[in-house]
Amino acid sequence: MNQNPDLSAAPGAPRVIPRSEHPVSRTNISPNALRVLYRLKEAGFQAFLVGGCVRDIIIGHHPKDFDVATDALPEELRRLFRNCRLVGRRFRLAHIVYGREIIEVATFRAASAPPPTEEPVPMRSDNEAELLEEELASGDEDPLEVTTPLDQTQPLEILEHADSGRESRSRNSAHRVHDDHGRLLRDNIYGSIDADVWRRDFTVNALYYNIADFSIWDYVGGLADIQAQRLRLIGDVETRYREDPVRMLRAARFEAKLGFQIEAASAAPIERLRGLLASVPPARLFDETAKLFLTGHGADSYRVLRARGLFAALFPAVDRYLEKHPGSLVEDLLVQGLRNTDRRIEEDKPVTPTFLFALLLYGPIAAIIESLPPNRWHEPQAILEACDQALREAQQRVSIPRRIALGVREMYALQPRLEGPRGRRALRLLEQPRFRAAYDLLILRATLGLAVPEVAQWWTTLQAAAPAEREQMVEAAPGGARASAAGRDAAPGSATGAPRRRRRRRPRSSGA
Ligand code: ATP
Ligand code: MG
Repeated sequence: MNQNPDLSAAPGAPRVIPRSEHPVSRTNISPNALRVLYRLKEAGFQAFLVGGCVRDIIIGHHPKDFDVATDALPEELRRLFRNCRLVGRRFRLAHIVYGREIIEVATFRAASAPPPTEEPVPMRSDNEAELLEEELASGDEDPLEVTTPLDQTQPLEILEHADSGRESRSRNSAHRVHDDHGRLLRDNIYGSIDADVWRRDFTVNALYYNIADFSIWDYVGGLADIQAQRLRLIGDVETRYREDPVRMLRAARFEAKLGFQIEAASAAPIERLRGLLASVPPARLFDETAKLFLTGHGADSYRVLRARGLFAALFPAVDRYLEKHPGSLVEDLLVQGLRNTDRRIEEDKPVTPTFLFALLLYGPIAAIIESLPPNRWHEPQAILEACDQALREAQQRVSIPRRIALGVREMYALQPRLEGPRGRRALRLLEQPRFRAAYDLLILRATLGLAVPEVAQWWTTLQAAAPAEREQMVEAAPGGARASAAGRDAAPGSATGAPRRRRRRRPRSSGA
């Protein structure tokens, strides 16, 4: 057992840091979050900002979103806010919706990993765990990141505050359910703030900002850990990872995002327990993948995940490829692509998961294509089949929504057509919805010598050109640009540098 030593202090005694001694100011808080906090307070409830938003404001970052914790029950929230949606079955939450901004409001939970002095939580009851597994495997929401609106017709299973002594309103006993590995499948037992703190993941994520007097409540030394740039899991480390293996990915994500160090006790079990990620529903791993790679620190996430052996838990086939080809161009392409994505986010430009998955799967797709005879490497059918196989394999772990999978296929199928622009067809390609993503991939490949830079440049110029100029360009270009690609390894399948046989092409006419 690896109990973080100074966290075993009796719960219920926070260090209260008055407003004059911490930097969290209301000017850093979204007006909508303030609206929610004040409304709760005026209705007589406790209301705190909690989690990443408090942590980020203290560090001086702009919070991604604002989470509120309260003693109001979901039903009470629904009555209090007209713009309230109750979401999530495993972990019931309220979304207070203001246009595009959603303030997530969670009722205090009883502790999931109890402090050592408390009774252990009940283990799974009858076959509820299996039923929930099915529910989750079918893409149900994750415990703290819930987007699926709750079916309003369902009876709510609400337990009154564990500490209030009020009678349970629930007819269902399975409010907290674990599976055989200790994974928490459902957690809807409500508690008070001093119980809520123990089910949070890291000490730096467990600071509560109290709207009543603007103080911060720190039960677990989170403030000191922020100052020391240290990530410490709350409670018994192994239990917490078993309850929710995604916490291992969250550790890596915060290490990458914040540049903090995971302290030794929290880092050590990861190597032994990372296999548990195989039991996490693929839909949830998709969400985590997006947070790891599409929120501005993707290149760092990649580095940390590889170093901690967690990348293999998400993308086994990609990891196998990278292990087999250390220092390959494919890895350079992945890292460069992630850096470009990070830069786009910094510049407030849109990014797409389709491009991300195309990057991630480059290695496996290339390997499948290269296992074919070289004369098939540029065949659209062969490329599509390779994409399908690589996507199918990846889906075993991380679910890839259909529209993204289709996008990845199209991006790859367009590569040979972009590399050999043919007359007016080139102009039609510009109209393809997937052109932009495919072009971005071509540019990236060209940067690394995996496609001919002049061809990529030709497309850049074509897009910027006026209509009349475009006509001239396509008249002049047919086949020429592609011809210059001959002898170079331009297809995804040639990425590892295997020799490519020259493909025999039919002569083309410019107006084709
Ligand atoms: P960010 O918003 O930057 O991704 P965050 O820490 O706010 O980081 P969220 O996923 O928004 O992360 O969750 C909000 C808070 O809920 C966390 O700070 C943490 O206290 C708690 N939390 C989220 N996920 C988990 C989890 N899997 N286990 C325990 N606590 C969690
Ligand atoms: Mg957050």
